[in-house]
Formats: sequence, C-alpha cells, structure tokens
Amino acid sequence: MTADRYDALVIGAGMSGLAAGIRLAQFGRRVAILERHALWGGLNSFYKRGGRRFDSGLHALTNFARPESKTAPLSRVLRQLRLRFDDLHLGEQGRSRLHLADVRLDFSNDFALLEAEVARAFPAQRTQFASFVRAVREAEPFTTVDPSASGRAFLREHLTDEDLVEALMLPLCWYGSAREGDVDAYQAIILFRAIFLEGLARPRGGIKPLLDLLVARYKAEGGELRTHHGVESVLRDSRGAARGVRLDSGDELLSDRILSSAGYVETRNLCGESSAPADQGRLSFVETQRVLSQPSASIGALHTLVFFSDSLRPAWRRPEEPVDLSNGVIACSDNYAGNEIAPRGLMRVTCLANPETWCAYDEAEYRTQKDRWEDAICAAAAPYAADPRPLTTQVDCFTPRTITHYTGHTGGTVYGSPRKRLDGDSGVPNVHLIGTDQGFVGIVGALMSGISIANRHALVAQ
Ligand SMILES: Cc1cc2nc3c(=O)[nH]c(=O)nc-3n(C[C@H](O)[C@H](O)[C@H](O)COP(=O)(O)OP(=O)(O)OC[C@H]3O[C@@H](n4cnc5c(N)ncnc54)[C@H](O)[C@@H]3O)c2cc1C
Repeated sequence: MTADRYDALVIGAGMSGLAAGIRLAQFGRRVAILERHALWGGLNSFYKRGGRRFDSGLHALTNFARPESKTAPLSRVLRQLRLRFDDLHLGEQGRSRLHLADVRLDFSNDFALLEAEVARAFPAQRTQFASFVRAVREAEPFTTVDPSASGRAFLREHLTDEDLVEALMLPLCWYGSAREGDVDAYQAIILFRAIFLEGLARPRGGIKPLLDLLVARYKAEGGELRTHHGVESVLRDSRGAARGVRLDSGDELLSDRILSSAGYVETRNLCGESSAPADQGRLSFVETQRVLSQPSASIGALHTLVFFSDSLRPAWRRPEEPVDLSNGVIACSDNYAGNEIAPRGLMRVTCLANPETWCAYDEAEYRTQKDRWEDAICAAAAPYAADPRPLTTQVDCFTPRTITHYTGHTGGTVYGSPRKRLDGDSGVPNVHLIGTDQGFVGIVGALMSGISIANRHALVAQ
C-alpha cells in the first residue's frame, strides 16, 4: 500500500496548528493536522465534568482590539483567517490589578487608568513611565530588538524605581515568559502592548466557540483534521530532510513540509535529534478553578484579573517546593462584560509549580498532594480577592502532570523552551516550528505564529 502524500503536515491542533492549517488550506494545499488527543485546542481546550463545560486554561484573550481597528494584531489575525470580529462575541475586562505587597496598580482596557495609577503610586516616575510607553509603542520588536536581550533591562532603561519595574514585570512573566527570572526584551514589548495597550477580553461561552470557528473555517477550506493521530516520529531522507511522519498506529504519511507545534525539544526528539539542556523549559503551573454559587464580585472579588505577590521582588522561577504560593494570578471569568456564567461565579488561581516533583508522585500521593495544594492556593489568593472555598460548588485543578499528558510538553512546561526560534528553524530541513517555541505565546500570539510560518515557509516556498 502506498502512503498518502500531502503538501504539508501540521503536528498539533492547538491554536498555532489550526491557524497554520487554515492558511495552507486557503491556498489550495493538501494539508492534514495530526493531533494525538481526541480534542483540539492544545493548552487552550475544554472538557466536560459534572455536566459543566470547563476551559482548560482561559484567563483572558490578550490583544483586544475594536472592530474598526485595521492594524491591531487581533484584526490582522482575523483578516488572514477570514473570520469575522463579531463572531468572537468578546466581553471586555472590568478592572484588573497588579498587587505586590502594599503596591496596588489598577488597569483596564482604558490605558489612561494605568497612567493615572502609576502617577498616584509612583509620582516621581510619571515622566519616565511616559518615556517607557513611548519606547514600547515605537519599538520594532522583531527587527531591532535582540531576541535574547533582557526585558527587565529594557524596563530599567526608562524606569528608575525598582518597585515599579517589578510590578510591571509580573504580568509580563505570567503571560508569556519561558525564561526564569526575566522575560525576553522583544517579548516584554509585545506583552506590554498585548496586556496594557490593547487590553483583555473573553469570548462569550469561553474557548469552545472560538475553537469551533477555527475548526469550521479549516474544514470549509478543505483541510483534514485527524484526531487520535499522534506522530511517533518524523521520517527523513538520506540527506536528513523530512519526508513524512510515522503515526503511533504505525501508518505513514508523506510530505516534504512539516510544521510542528510540539515544541523545539519535542520536535527534535521526533526527528531523532538531541537538544541542548538549556533548550529544555523549566516553568510549569498548578491551576485551580472553582465554580461559585454566586458571582465573584458578590463575595468581594471585584477585579477581572489580579497578578499578586507577597513581596516586591516576586520570584519567576521553578520552585523547590511543589507549588510557590508567594505569587500568582487570579482570574474571575464572570467579571468580564456580557459573560454567560452569571448567576454563578468562576474563579481561577494559578501558581508556579515544580514539574519534577509532580511527575514523580505515585497515583495515591498525587491525589493527596493535589487536594492539599489546591486548598493552599485558594488560601494564598484570598487576601488579594476573596476566599472562594465557602461558596464552591465544583472544583477542578490541573498540575504539570496534566499539561504533560495533554500537550506532550516534556516536563509539563507551559511556555516551552527559553530559547525561541523566531524563524521557526528546528534544525531539521523541511521541519518548521510553530506556536510557543517559535516565540509567540498566548491565543493571539499562537494564531499569529501559525499564520506567519505557514506564509513564510509553506506558501512562498512551493
Ligand atoms: C494554564 C494556562 C492558561 C493559559 N491562559 C491563557 C489565556 O488566558 N490567554 C492566552 O492568550 N493564552 C493562555 N495560555 C497560553 C496559550 O494557551 C498558549 O500560548 C497557546 O495555546 C499555545 O498554542 P500552541 O499551538 O503553540 O501549542 P499547544 O496548545 O501546546 O498545542 C500543541 C498541540 O500539539 C499536540 N501534539 C504534541 N505532540 C504531538 C505529537 N507527537 N503528535 C500529535 N500531536 C501532538 C498536543 O496534543 C497539542 O494539542 C495559557 C496557558 C496555560 C497553560
């Protein structure tokens, strides 16, 4: 039997894989997306428990844009994927907060609020903050900024108060830094724009309606989505170039164009290549989500997001202990405009975790530790929002082990390798990285990654 031949094969049906697949199919390429799991979405997927649908990771869609904006990243992504803005049904955040020890800075989708808050809490930094924001607006992060330069150093070029630097660093790390103790400078610029200058929103109905739109568009363009189709290895020719994949089933599919969202280290493993230890990501999360019998705001959790830290110098690193309770993020999904959750509340709390510890527990110990830390995370978050425990009707919690299982990311890493490959180079001819390890994170970032690598390597080159 001869193996099926494709113009391109995409490994993974996360945001980047779906976006890449849509672009390729739009241009008439014969393409298949190969996903090991039953469902698509990757890190941003959904599941049902107790008759209720849960999102696996949705805090916020960053890069909010208004429909009339033509040049915003979200508008550009939607245009390239031929999706309509109105179909996303985005509800904007209310107020959110950076809360580090006794420093509090509120922000919203109106950037003037953050400017006023900085002027209130750090009056001596007013001019410096304006100069920093100007630099962020004017920067060309992909062409003029050294990809490995320090984001903290970039902030310090403009801001002289370390407490303000750390307060602004906290959300930049939480929403996309794979690098311990810092964030890449180009990523800091992109994330500051995405979170503060563009803003945060949530699709009504959570992540599923957005995924439904992507899958429907992909299929309408003629793309094949094959779930339960794990890629066991990449086939290579005598020159080392990829010529197809072998599936977990043993079947083979042929193509000399492979786009992989599996991660840098993981993709090289599939190709039979090693990677440097420094390429292995170290950061992972434990996240709890609690459904409440009444809205979050009614118990005092008034903000949409709270980035919290009990010190002015939060540690962005893999903790020694199973979970680091000293800093984290609280997301109240019902504090977005037009949410469909009311009259219930939905609160998520996320903290850094040690993947090695979590992956080493036996099953019984894993259950015990999960319950213990889930409770501890809620207690740690309570002073910054409200204690969700007394009003909880349903709880779910994921750990680095869950992330490893559902995404195949070694070590349960969330933001992948600390060394990004902006050109998508996997080091193996014909294999291009998309998604997290190409260097664009978050929902909009991953979509953009799939689009840009498909445009650059799979559409132009053929
Ligand atoms: C807890 C959490 C909360 C988050 N919240 C937000 C948020 O609120 N807003 C936001 O913008 N971003 C958020 N993110 C980040 C966002 O989810 C990711 O940046 C983005 O989804 C990454 O997409 P991706 O396509 O690069 O990869 P992934 O989502 O990791 O998708 C990769 C896919 O490839 C599949 N795969 C891997 N190996 C193979 C193989 N060998 N064969 C077949 N299939 C394979 C996996 O099963 C997976 O489906 C969050 C992440 C986490 C962990």
